[in-house]
Amino acid sequence: MSETFLPELPQELWRAGKLELAHGVQQSLRVIRTATAGLGQFLAEIESRGVKDLYGYGSTANWFADMAGLSLGEARPVVKRAIALNPTRALDGTEVPAVAPATAAVAAEGMVGNERIDQILEILKKLPAETSAEDRTSAEKILADLARDAGPRQLAEAEANLLAWLDPDGNEPKDPEPKEPRRELTLERRKDGFWKLNGLLDDEAGARTAAALEAYAKPRPVDEFGQADLRMKCERLGDAWVDLLDLAIACPDQPGTSGYRTLVHVTIGLEELKSGLGTACLDFVGTMTAREARLAACDCLMLPVVMNAAGEPLDVGRLRRFVTPGQRRALNIRDGGCAFPGCHRKPKHCHAHHIDHWVDGGPTDLRNLVLLCGFHHRLIHHGDWEVRLAADGLPEFIPPQCRDPLRKPRRNTLHHT
Ligand SMILES: [Zn+2]
Ligand SMILES: [Zn+2]
Repeated sequence: MSETFLPELPQELWRAGKLELAHGVQQSLRVIRTATAGLGQFLAEIESRGVKDLYGYGSTANWFADMAGLSLGEARPVVKRAIALNPTRALDGTEVPAVAPATAAVAAEGMVGNERIDQILEILKKLPAETSAEDRTSAEKILADLARDAGPRQLAEAEANLLAWLDPDGNEPKDPEPKEPRRELTLERRKDGFWKLNGLLDDEAGARTAAALEAYAKPRPVDEFGQADLRMKCERLGDAWVDLLDLAIACPDQPGTSGYRTLVHVTIGLEELKSGLGTACLDFVGTMTAREARLAACDCLMLPVVMNAAGEPLDVGRLRRFVTPGQRRALNIRDGGCAFPGCHRKPKHCHAHHIDHWVDGGPTDLRNLVLLCGFHHRLIHHGDWEVRLAADGLPEFIPPQCRDPLRKPRRNTLHHT
């Protein structure tokens, strides 16, 4: 980062000459832009490390919005820009290069602001798909150099020239769409560890799917800290999909589960499961972080296979980690739903969280269990909230210091009146 300092304000600004004023504006702009580029580097690093693991949030934009007191609509473009300008890493550690590295360099010098950066990113998106990597790189370099001392109009002119150069024939006509079957679903695991779900449904199946998802995708009500549900619609639908899946898997008539609620194994070393550091192996498909595995193993959402250092399977907690149907019924009655303060979710959407994890010797009995919905279960595992059973045997939650400096325990009063 180049050295930029806030210009010193003259004692009496009204005495300043017009050159001094112009210089002050220029200097301030440069400081803002350099600092913005620096902020982008932090956000890109947080994105690379996985914000879910770091802070328990669904996306970097969600976390940043919360942290900076912004709306999600305000936070999202800042994060988008940060990721386009800086190299990041996928979940498996592979480097993902920046979309616009030359623009990033100019931005780091404080020579270009958000508006021109966005204009360049938009132009890059319009380059024809078959543009070679070299052509793409040199196009971006041209735009970045131009942005250093030209305005929006010159960039727009450059856009027209670049497109004419890279795509002289314009768009070719597309083949007519092939006729699609009535119900089709594909699920594939991508290199970065995310899964891509794609589907096509006839009117009847589509309408039923929409109704089922919509029912579970309603925004969470504002909690007692005034925190609204910041998830985008597509994120709420994604969470609803997982809720429906949990319901289907918990159904005792499910084929092939032989009484277990889960079909997926996660293989993990004892040390990794205890510390939450490192990685775990997911049934035939790849890896997940040990931290996620610890969460999935908590209520046996996935069946954990725990190994010792020599790679031999261990018997750890095998008998004591399953919540019996009787315990679950008692827990449903005691907590009445997600026990997190302010949460409305009903017992059927909840996991039985072990307050002391069974891998650390915590027993599977009511004094060590608490009902939590998927969202709050993740928050407890990844965030800074703590849960304990109070003297009266009911769960209470201790907010992190940043939410409540006195850390006064709180309860959910919505399920029992
Ligand atoms: Zn848990
Ligand atoms: Zn909840």
